[in-house]
Amino acid sequence: MPRSLPSTGHATPVRHLVVAGAGHAHLDLLAALTAAPIAGWTVTLVMPTEDFAYSGSLPAVIAGTAPESAALIPIGAAARAAKLRVIISSVTALDAAAQVVTLANGESLAFDLLSLDVGSAPVGLGGVDGAEFAFTMRPFRRALELTARLDAVAAHVGRGARVPVAVVGAGAAGVEIACALRTRLQGAGVTPVVTLIDPNAADHLPLPGSRMAVRQHAGRLLADRGIAVVQGTVTAIGETSLRVRNAFGEEVDHDVCATAWTTGAAAHSWLAASGLACDDRGFPLAEATLALNASETIFGGGDCVTLRDATGTAKAGVYAVRMAPILAANVLGRTRQVAAQRRYTPQHDFLALLSTGDGEAMLRWKGITLTSRWAQKLKTRIDTGYMARYSRRIAGDVRAAF
Ligand SMILES: Cc1cc2nc3c(=O)[nH]c(=O)nc-3n(C[C@H](O)[C@H](O)[C@H](O)COP(=O)(O)OP(=O)(O)OC[C@H]3O[C@@H](n4cnc5c(N)ncnc54)[C@H](O)[C@@H]3O)c2cc1C
Repeated sequence: MPRSLPSTGHATPVRHLVVAGAGHAHLDLLAALTAAPIAGWTVTLVMPTEDFAYSGSLPAVIAGTAPESAALIPIGAAARAAKLRVIISSVTALDAAAQVVTLANGESLAFDLLSLDVGSAPVGLGGVDGAEFAFTMRPFRRALELTARLDAVAAHVGRGARVPVAVVGAGAAGVEIACALRTRLQGAGVTPVVTLIDPNAADHLPLPGSRMAVRQHAGRLLADRGIAVVQGTVTAIGETSLRVRNAFGEEVDHDVCATAWTTGAAAHSWLAASGLACDDRGFPLAEATLALNASETIFGGGDCVTLRDATGTAKAGVYAVRMAPILAANVLGRTRQVAAQRRYTPQHDFLALLSTGDGEAMLRWKGITLTSRWAQKLKTRIDTGYMARYSRRIAGDVRAAF
């Protein structure tokens, strides 16, 4: 297998920083790296697709209420403009001891410093027959394939026809995507029949694991919009079908036009084989500094790590966003041979805003749960502010050039 080290062209040794993944937890690091080179280092960015995809705006893009550009920052182009090496590929293996990552394109990269923000894989899809028919929300282009499919179905069946769609996983993402799909199909002039399926929804309520009052509120919100929640485990998916095992162990086939998969975060399998200490789900354990090893040559943030001191922290973007400046400061500090100093402590709770896709959002904050247009306005303000901030910092010049 080829093993490439960056060519230096200088007498002094040049060190190599590999940045894997361009997600929420890497935006501050990428903003710094695209702003100015680091003396004595070359930087390689490995990312599966050209753009950063902001999950907060994904439901609005799926609903058809925001353009794709509202959720995307062209990080690949910005990084190339800043003379970073960009490889459009995925990490498929990491040897922490040897300090080498292997990529899906067959390349191996030796590194002196590695920062990981590779997100997660969908829970439970591996064991499902016909998994390739599931529309996962990551990568973003797969979610866009779902909207393209539904638009084509709507155009084919004609106005008013019923279009059944399944959303697997009744967590926060599932609720938002179910609502967004309803809005999109209504906008296309057909009758949406959206069903949320979750093995933990015996009571026909979404958001398993949340407080009962929150679940009941979200259940009413869905019922008002004609979205059903059923208990079941999906065992097979076809292009237009779905097999679900119900609570009695019976397998029942259903006709659907598409199956969206929103089941939460599992670890990429190659992380458990990397030699890094991992939790029992295969997520590397991060110190408060976000270092993943004692020598501080490997760091990580966002969904792909578990905090050693706060193992119960949810895999949610709000945490990835808060980790981003800490990860950037400590990785950049290591390029100057400074020990990692900034420490990340997750907040106990966060403001949750779930868009209903039709102008309202459900807000949950401490003991308060409400659904209103004002909450959606707040969500839009937060989302557009986030995107504007990082677009300007990372891709300002690139966007201006288009
Ligand atoms: C529909 C939806 C809505 C959501 N809404 C919210 C919300 O409102 N609030 C909230 O807090 N959370 C939300 N989440 C959860 C949120 O998306 C994640 O917690 C967040 O994206 C995690 O950020 P991250 O930086 O860890 O990874 P990501 O932002 O997912 O980025 C990981 C990056 O790594 C890349 N990558 C993946 N594998 C590899 C590999 N092998 N090699 C290299 N690169 C790789 C990916 O392409 C991606 O760009 C939502 C999730 C979904 C699906």
